[in-house]
Amino acid sequence: MRFVSEKVQRLPEYLFSEFQRKKKVLQKNGVDVIDLGIGAPDLSPPQFIIDELFNQSKNTANHRYSPFSGCDEFKQAVAHFYEKRYGVNLDPDTEVLALIGSKEGIANLVHAVINPEDIVLIPDPGYPVYKAAVHLAGGKAVSLPLDKENEYVPQFNQISEQVAEKAKVMFLNYPANPTAATVELPTFESAVLYAETNNILLAHDAAYDLITFNSYKAPSVLQVTGAKKYAVEFGSLSKSFNMTGWRIGYVVGNKEVIQALATLKSNIDTSQYVPIQKAAAVALNSDLQSVSLNNDIYVKRMETLYNVLGSLGMRAQRPKGTIFVWAEVPEGFSSLSFANYLLDEAGVIVTPGSAFGKNGEGFVRIALTVTEERLKEAVLRLQKLNIKEVDKN
Ligand SMILES: *Cc1c(COP(=O)(O)O)cnc(C)c1O
Repeated sequence: MRFVSEKVQRLPEYLFSEFQRKKKVLQKNGVDVIDLGIGAPDLSPPQFIIDELFNQSKNTANHRYSPFSGCDEFKQAVAHFYEKRYGVNLDPDTEVLALIGSKEGIANLVHAVINPEDIVLIPDPGYPVYKAAVHLAGGKAVSLPLDKENEYVPQFNQISEQVAEKAKVMFLNYPANPTAATVELPTFESAVLYAETNNILLAHDAAYDLITFNSYKAPSVLQVTGAKKYAVEFGSLSKSFNMTGWRIGYVVGNKEVIQALATLKSNIDTSQYVPIQKAAAVALNSDLQSVSLNNDIYVKRMETLYNVLGSLGMRAQRPKGTIFVWAEVPEGFSSLSFANYLLDEAGVIVTPGSAFGKNGEGFVRIALTVTEERLKEAVLRLQKLNIKEVDKN
């Protein structure tokens, strides 16, 4: 370990690697593994976006460095999208920044805004990148416990005053990974009020903003009056347009924070390839018909799975968005023992809830990222297990 920093040595092992290793062994032995652990869409990006990338890449002027903060077309498209969808006005020059995927922006944001020992409040259970980023930046991650009883909304009045005083940033994420929880605008109003009262930056991760079902529409934190003073919001093309590999996202909101992040990033990267940004602009400017079609697919898969969970002893809420179902493990199991049991006995991979934080214990995250046919096959296998009858010891 001579060349490996203590910081990197102390990073938690990437949570999916253990299951992926087991998956390979099983596959070698001829098991047909169904992987419901993958948190990325299996669907394809719409053809018009691919065509735009192809056309833009034919223009050699587009092969130079991008402006540090992203090209005008992309930043204008983000501002236009916020105006159209949320009625929120953004200045594309100062309140929008292009990111090489929102994960990059989330990790760099922490470096741009905290000093060593500052507290960052992170949702538990939550997307593991927040905690890792705080660790790498020398801050202190403090859990915001999210419980089923409170519909996975943080109880701001239960955060101690000492923590509130030292806290610099609070991450939230709705529609949520891994819990699939969704909120209405009043939750963001309370969050912004809490941020204002305690002088905390609210960083909202809206990676699943467009992946919502039936009539539910996810709000933006910037719809709260005055939110720009205390909040930024991360967005991504990855999940809405099935573009995970393209690495394109954005952050919007508070100018000062956006400028700080832009300054930090200008020393690290030089933004994304211009044709990718221009194709992403076309996606954001579209009528979002492709997103609705995807959502119809997810909702069908979700219903296929949701409708049998009760009979398997796995209680769950019917999600209004995301590509996940968050289900309680049957009596007698832990998150990890249940995930292992499903892999060993049914060849089905799910992610143990405990991988997303202490509060995820007792749950598993099931991703809706396989075809309806494969999902039905997984459901059949689960039903055959007769989970209620097994001896958990
Ligand atoms: C997938 C995901 C991201 C990362 O998206 P990229 O834009 O591809 O980096 C961020 N936050 C959450 C909660 C996610 O699930």
